[in-house]
Amino acid sequence: MGDVTRIVIIGGGPGGYEAALVAAQLGAEVTVVDRDGLGGASVLTDCVPSKTLIATAEVLTNFDSSYQELGITLDGEAEDRAERAISVDLGKVNRRVKRLAIAQSHDITQSVTRAGVTVLRGKGRLGAGGQAADGSREVVVEGPDGSTQSLRADTVLISTGVHPREAPDALPDGERILNWTQMYDIEELPAELIVVGSGVTGAEFAGAYQALGSKVTLVSSRDRVLPGEDPDAAEVLEDVFRRRGMNVMSRRRAESAKRVGDRVEVALNTGEVISGTHCLIAIGSIPNTADMGLEEAGVKLNDWGQIVVDRVSRTSAPGVYAAGDCTGVFMLASVAAMQGRIAMYHALGDAVQPLNLKTIASNIFTDPEIATVGYTAADVSCGKMDAVEIKLPLRGNPRAKMQGIRDGFVKLFCRPGTGIVVGGVVVAPRASELIHSISLAVDNSLTVEQVASAFTVYPSLSGSTAEAARQLHIRKRAESES
Ligand SMILES: Cc1cc2nc3c(=O)[nH]c(=O)nc-3n(C[C@H](O)[C@H](O)[C@H](O)COP(=O)(O)OP(=O)(O)OC[C@H]3O[C@@H](n4cnc5c(N)ncnc54)[C@H](O)[C@@H]3O)c2cc1C
Repeated sequence: MGDVTRIVIIGGGPGGYEAALVAAQLGAEVTVVDRDGLGGASVLTDCVPSKTLIATAEVLTNFDSSYQELGITLDGEAEDRAERAISVDLGKVNRRVKRLAIAQSHDITQSVTRAGVTVLRGKGRLGAGGQAADGSREVVVEGPDGSTQSLRADTVLISTGVHPREAPDALPDGERILNWTQMYDIEELPAELIVVGSGVTGAEFAGAYQALGSKVTLVSSRDRVLPGEDPDAAEVLEDVFRRRGMNVMSRRRAESAKRVGDRVEVALNTGEVISGTHCLIAIGSIPNTADMGLEEAGVKLNDWGQIVVDRVSRTSAPGVYAAGDCTGVFMLASVAAMQGRIAMYHALGDAVQPLNLKTIASNIFTDPEIATVGYTAADVSCGKMDAVEIKLPLRGNPRAKMQGIRDGFVKLFCRPGTGIVVGGVVVAPRASELIHSISLAVDNSLTVEQVASAFTVYPSLSGSTAEAARQLHIRKRAESES
C-alpha cells in the first residue's frame, strides 16, 4: 500500500456518498462509481421522492381532517359540493418531486466533487483476479457507452442498494401496473388505486394517495397492516385508514395483476378478483449484488443475496466492505450512511464505534406518523428485554385537543429496576420530530426520572413524553414495592 490509500466505492447512495466524504476528509484518494446518479435510489426514486409527495398529501390531510372542527369555512360553491373542496394536480406534484430529486442529486455531486472525490458514471464490479500481492483489488467499470476501465483499490466499499421485487404474474408495465419508482411518471390522479403489500412502502403510498383523493384498496397478506411494527401503532393506522374510507383487505395474497383495457385486475388467493385504474406492487426488494464478482472474490452472501457484514461493515473478503440496503442490516438511509462512514473510519484506521442497532430511530411517514427507537414490544414479549411499558394516548394531551388531533400515542419502555429508558414509540403528526427526545434518552441511558424532570413547553405534544415518563416512574415504584 502506498502513502495514500486508494478507495473505490461502488454505488453512490447514502451508504456510498457519505463514505466518500469521510474518506476524502481523512486524506484518501476516493473514486465513486454509480450507474444512475449520486444520491442513489434514496434521492432519485425512494426516500426523497416519496417524502416530497407525502408533503403534499400531509397538507391535504391536515386540512381535510380538521378544518370543520377548527371552524374554517369554505367560500362559494365548494362548501355545498358533495365531493372534496380541494384537489390536487398530480402532474404538477410529480414534476416538483422529480425536480427536487434531481437538484438534490446535483447538490450531492457538487459537494462530493468539491471534497476531491472522483465521480465515475457506470456499472462497477470486482475484477476476476482477487487480491493482488500488495493487497489491492481491481474494480472494473463499464461506462454508459459500453467502454470499460480498470481501477485499483486498497479498499473497496460496495453500497449498491436494492431494486423492487417483482412477481412473474404481476409485472409492472410502467403505466397502470407500477412499482414505487414509477409512481412519479403518473400525470393524472389514479381514480382507484390498488396497493399490493402493506409494509412501510405500501402503507406510505396507500395513505398518501388516499389523501390526494384516490379511492385506495390495500391488499395485505397479514392480519394487519405494517407487520413487524409496533402492533398498537399498526392498529391505530389501520383504524385511521379504514375510517377515511380505505378498503383494507387483510389475509389476502395477490396472485396476479393484469391489464384489462384501461383497468387493472388483481386476482387474490381467495378467488376474489378486484379491479382498479392503477396498481402499485410493493412486495419488497432484491439486493443489487448479482453479477458483480462478489462471491468469486470471497464476499459471502446470505440466502437472500444480501452481503454479510460485521458491525464495522467488513465483508468476508479482506479489503472489501459493504454498507446500506445491499447488506439488509436495517433498510434506512441513515443506517446506510452510518455503515458507510464506519467502514471508512475502520479502513483508514480512525477511531470507530461499531454499529449499534438498538439506538436507531426510524419513522413511517403515514398520517399519523409512526416513529420508533430502541427495544420494541416484540423484544419485550419474547423476553429479549425485560422492560416495563406505558402507553399514553394523545387524546388527553391539551395541544392535541387544540389542534383537533384524535389519533396517536406515546409509548415508553424502561428497565424495571433502574428505570433506564430502552425504547419508545410515538404515533402522531410529525412523530419523526417528537421521537428525538426518546432517542436521546435511549442513546444516553437516561432514566424515566431524568426524562420526566426536563421541562417541556406547555402546551405541546412532547408534554406527553414527559407525562409518560412520570407515569412509568410511578408504575415502576408500584411494581418494585409489590
Ligand atoms: C419508497 C421508499 C421510501 C423510503 N423512505 C425512506 C425514508 O423516509 N427514510 C429512510 O431513512 N429510508 C427510506 N427508505 C430506504 C432508503 O431509501 C434506503 O435505505 C437507502 O436508499 C439505502 O441507501 P444505499 O446507499 O444502500 O443504496 P441506494 O440509495 O439504493 O443507492 C445505491 C446506488 O448504487 C447504484 N448501483 C447499483 N449497482 C451498481 C453497480 N453495479 N455499479 C454502480 N452503481 C450501482 C444504484 O444505481 C444507486 O444509485 C425508503 C425506501 C423506499 C423504497
